[in-house]
Amino acid sequence: MSSPRTGTKRNLIYKAVMKYETVIGLEVHAQLLTQSKIFCGCSTKFGQAPNQSTCPICTGFPGVLPVLNKKVVEFAIRTGLASNCEIACSSRLARKNYFYPDLPKGYQISQYELPICTNGHIDVAMNGTVKRIRLTRIHMEEDAGKNIHDLRGDASLVDLNRAGIPLLEIVSEPDIRSTEEARNYLRTLRAILQYLEICDGNMEEGSFRCDANVSVRPEGTTALGTKVELKNLNSFKAVEKAIEFEIRRHIETLSDGGRLIQETRLWDPDRQETRSMRTKEFAHDYRYFPDPDLLPVVIDEAWIGEIRASLPELPDGRKARFMSQYDIPAYDAELLTSRKDIADYFESALTTHRNPKAIANWITGELFRLLKDRKLDEKVYITEWPVQANNLAAMIALIAQGKISGKIAKTVFEAMADSGRSPQEIVAEKGLEQVSDSESIEKAIDQILAAHPKQVADYQAGNQKIFGFLVGQIMKATQGKANPQKANEILKRKLMEGN
Ligand SMILES: [Zn+2]
Repeated sequence: MSSPRTGTKRNLIYKAVMKYETVIGLEVHAQLLTQSKIFCGCSTKFGQAPNQSTCPICTGFPGVLPVLNKKVVEFAIRTGLASNCEIACSSRLARKNYFYPDLPKGYQISQYELPICTNGHIDVAMNGTVKRIRLTRIHMEEDAGKNIHDLRGDASLVDLNRAGIPLLEIVSEPDIRSTEEARNYLRTLRAILQYLEICDGNMEEGSFRCDANVSVRPEGTTALGTKVELKNLNSFKAVEKAIEFEIRRHIETLSDGGRLIQETRLWDPDRQETRSMRTKEFAHDYRYFPDPDLLPVVIDEAWIGEIRASLPELPDGRKARFMSQYDIPAYDAELLTSRKDIADYFESALTTHRNPKAIANWITGELFRLLKDRKLDEKVYITEWPVQANNLAAMIALIAQGKISGKIAKTVFEAMADSGRSPQEIVAEKGLEQVSDSESIEKAIDQILAAHPKQVADYQAGNQKIFGFLVGQIMKATQGKANPQKANEILKRKLMEGN
């Protein structure tokens, strides 16, 4: 197969004419924040010693009976209501049969033809417009265990702590047309789950996982092209990179007259490419059938009504409230509410110092920049971050009171991020308080003027640029602590007096 650069002349002409449209559907697995597993009483706590959190039910002993965790049903309904789904009054749990060492029962309990939620949608903000992504379904299922390879030579070990952890699988329609839409959809969905407090959304720890179905088709056509399913996408970056790689591979293959096969591919972050894992299985390969140990899940309208009434404020609502209550621009409100922890952090800071605009600016500016520089933007919750909300607010209050300048504040902020200490402590210890008393500033200015007679003469002869130079010297002499407004006033007066 020839690559696009070495393709035949005919191919090059063909490619110039043919444009492709990308079609993406996403399947998200969200791990639910329940205390116990989906069909037994074992704890869901993360990071326990291998196989500590297991029992005969989640390790698949014969003859045991699973009992559905009511909280899982409630969380599924919450998610369905928050994403505009129809909630099925009767749904079924089904066995999905396959063999793998981390699945001792030989089947996973999931939902198949009767899922709990169907026909929803999520509105995703895209550069000032809104894109509606439809949801095919949301269903409940259990997670499998985990195989650990290469620990001692050839040995493979199985840890079943994760077996039976409750998951929601959230399946979108193939409505996504670009990597940007995929990214924004995932961020919006994750925010909704975090606001509902049913999933922590941590991609690194695998509690928010995404598989992507990707295909391309000639622009203007409606039939779906051959799709591949991408797995192992454990960060937002991986999702984008893997989808971009696949789109390119599909277009190159088709442009060269090649054929694609339906298959599952894995993203390899080290080599920045996808590779084939297996040819795509079809649903009938799994021989799904209703689990005979579990009754249909019957939900009465009253319970749905109760859950609907108890839904918390969701990202869209909070964004609108931030704009009206705090008079913050739409873009900033969007950034602040895109994660619940950040929105909480913002409102927590306001209880210490009520200046919404300044606090919003510091969070979306310096704080986000610092998190990104330190590669913490995807990993850490702000609640675990060294700069506490009340300390950020206290620092902004120091600027407002004229105790530190905006410039010095950046130094204070970095020191707060390094040490987790309060701005007052840092300012006092490093002697960063702004000098505002006229006497000290005058003294510094007198010294500078005495040391630069030639520049003073030049200024008085009409060279205005010298003023900036002299201000710079004053700030340098006071280590940036002179109140810049006062320094300007006094310097101007002194130069006019001809001192
Ligand atoms: Zn168990």
